[in-house]
Parts: sequence; structure tokens; C-alpha cells
Amino acid sequence: MNIQLVGVVGAGQMGNGIAQVAAQFGFNVIMTDVSGAALEKGMATISGSCDRLVKKATMTEADKAALLGRIKTSQDLSALKECDIIIEAATENIDLKLKIFKDLDAVAKPAALLVSNTSSISITKIAGATKRPEQVAGMHFMNPVPLMKLVEGIRGLQTSDATFTAVRALAEKMDKTFVESTKDMPGFIVNRILMPMINEAVYTLHEGIASVEAIDNAMKLGTNQPMGPLTLADFIGLDTCLAIMNVLHDGLGDSKYRPCPLLVKYVEAGWMGRKSGRGFYNYAAK
Ligand code: NAD
Repeated sequence: MNIQLVGVVGAGQMGNGIAQVAAQFGFNVIMTDVSGAALEKGMATISGSCDRLVKKATMTEADKAALLGRIKTSQDLSALKECDIIIEAATENIDLKLKIFKDLDAVAKPAALLVSNTSSISITKIAGATKRPEQVAGMHFMNPVPLMKLVEGIRGLQTSDATFTAVRALAEKMDKTFVESTKDMPGFIVNRILMPMINEAVYTLHEGIASVEAIDNAMKLGTNQPMGPLTLADFIGLDTCLAIMNVLHDGLGDSKYRPCPLLVKYVEAGWMGRKSGRGFYNYAAK
């Protein structure tokens, strides 16, 4: 399959990163979001990220201008009607994703592939919201997309070999390493393992076992992770962490996946991590 035009739904942390990397590797991109402000912020983030690459001399000003020139934005999903593949990276909410895929199925050309960047939600269920389930797959990028090497590929029950081959080839053209999760189970590989660790770190805080800084330092220095689990949770977004824990809990039915009440409280307070200025750390103050 000859992919030239890539659609991205959602201009948040992940969507703008995916749009940037797709454009960096020569694809034309249309990025959509329901929010005009999110599109503006997304484009500003891409521009800032390119500036850092220019400073490091890994990108020229001309490359930056060409990259930005390959990305168009729209608040209207029907702008994606000519796309060869559409990568959905909207908020981690199952009802929202099912609605987006139903709408995408109606606007996208018949040959288009529809993939989700979901962290945990069933690809099989998302595919079932469309009339082209064999052309739907999971393409799970990591945050921040321009820096992280992995794309986790997830086959829904209905995903065809041709679709999965095309998704793998696209990831490799974006200079990513593609690792396949052979079963479409909640959390796939990365979040099945990572999120319970983050949730346990929140319990460690909740039960007063250690401070935020002590938990992060202990895990950084004691297990050789580049950042502590609470710092990482703030990066990911606490709403996303909670949504993934809920998917693990509901989907696997085991109480070991119950979200920590403190994580629930933080999200109720609007403390979503870096993107809201406050999470386990206070970013607004810096
Ligand atoms: P985010 O909150 O930064 O961005 C979500 C964006 O989706 C927002 O701009 C919002 O306006 C937009 N949106 C909401 N409803 C929409 C709709 N109907 N149509 C179009 N856009 C809509 O979230 P994020 O961190 O970018 O996460 C997006 C997806 O990527 C989620 O499924 C998440 O699980 C997944 N993901 C996140 C990470 C991470 O570390 N944050 C990593 C891998 C995958």
C-alpha cells in the first residue's frame, strides 16, 4: 500500500508528536482536533520541538520550514477524506473513540486504514465500530513521539495481514522499531507492565510510605530507570494513567488493577500532570 497522506485525529501531546514525525519523514499530514486552541498549541509544540533539533544541528531551518509546510490542520473530520491512513490520538475514552471511528469510517476513502494510538482500549472493539474492521489496527507510539523509538503494533481479532504489514512498514519509515503485541488484551505489552508499577508508586505515596521525591529517587537510583514513576506519570498525564488503570481493572477483572484512590482524587482536582501545570509535581511554579 502506498501511503502518502497521513491523517491524525487529536492534536494533544501524542497527536502533535505523531504529526511531526510523519512530516519529518516526508509524509503530508492533516491534523484535526475538536479544539482550535489544541490545534494552535499542537503546531506551536511542533515548531518548538523543531527549534530544539535545529539548535542541536540535527535539522536545518529549511528542513523545519519544509516539515511545517507538510502539515495542515482542521477542526473538521471530513478534512481527512483523502488520507491513506488515519491515526487516532484523541483522549483515552472508549465511548469517544468508538464515536470517532464510526465517524471516520463514514468520511474516509474505502481503501484507507484506520489505526488507534490507544494505550489500552480493545482494538477489536474499536474495529467493530466500523464497517471495515479488517482495515483497523493499533499503532501505539510512545511519549515524546519524536524521541521514543518504540511503536507497539496491535492486531485486533479482525485485522488483516495486509493492514498489519502496512502499519509495520509505516512505523519503520518513521524510523521506529515495531514490536508486535500478538494478543489484543487490555494494556497490550507496555501498559500492562508499566501502569501497575505507576499505580503502585501512587499507593506508596498514598499510604505515607515515602514522599514523592523519595519514591522517584529510589526507583531511579535503585532500578536504573531514567526517571521515577511519579515523574513519568506526570509526563503521561494522570487522566490517561487513570483511564488505563480502569481499562485494566474492567477488562481483566482482577482487583490488583484497582486504581489508587489518590490517583482518582488528583484527576478529580484537575491535576493532570505536566499538561495542566500540576500533578505530583508543581510545574506552574517553575
Ligand atoms: P491529550 O489530552 O494531550 O490530547 C488529547 C486531544 O484529543 C486533545 O487535544 C483533545 O482536544 C482531543 N480530542 C478530544 N476529543 C476529540 C474528538 N472527538 N476529535 C478530535 N480530537 C479530540 O492526550 P494524549 O496524551 O495526547 O493522549 C492521546 C491518546 O494517546 C490517548 O488514547 C492516550 O492513551 C494515547 N497515548 C498517550 C501517551 C502519553 O504518554 N500521554 C502515550 C501513548 C499513547
